[in-house]
Amino acid sequence: MIKVYDAANHIDAQLALDELLAADIEAVMKGQFLSGGAGELPPSGLVTLWVLDEAFEDKAKAVITEYENRNQSCAPAQDCAGCGERVEGNFACCWNCGAELPEISKSF
Ligand SMILES: [Zn+2]
Repeated sequence: MIKVYDAANHIDAQLALDELLAADIEAVMKGQFLSGGAGELPPSGLVTLWVLDEAFEDKAKAVITEYENRNQSCAPAQDCAGCGERVEGNFACCWNCGAELPEISKSF
């Protein structure tokens, strides 16, 4: 078993895991159950994805890279505070009224 991804949080990990499984790569998530343990620190950065068969490491990393790239280019759409128009996430300003849009946090 080999680690292929350090997730930002368990939602991120789940999305990436779905990509791996969709590509017929057997993978598991680790670390998602660590929160709330007695006396433990918050598990920031501890959610990881592991590929069961090391022969799939390269393929898995390619899937992860593609997943990350897609995430960066596809920020969620939001409603403009100025005019209420729906604006795709990769715009910095509203295309309709020109209002500046708030930076979208990628954390959930
Ligand atoms: Zn607007």
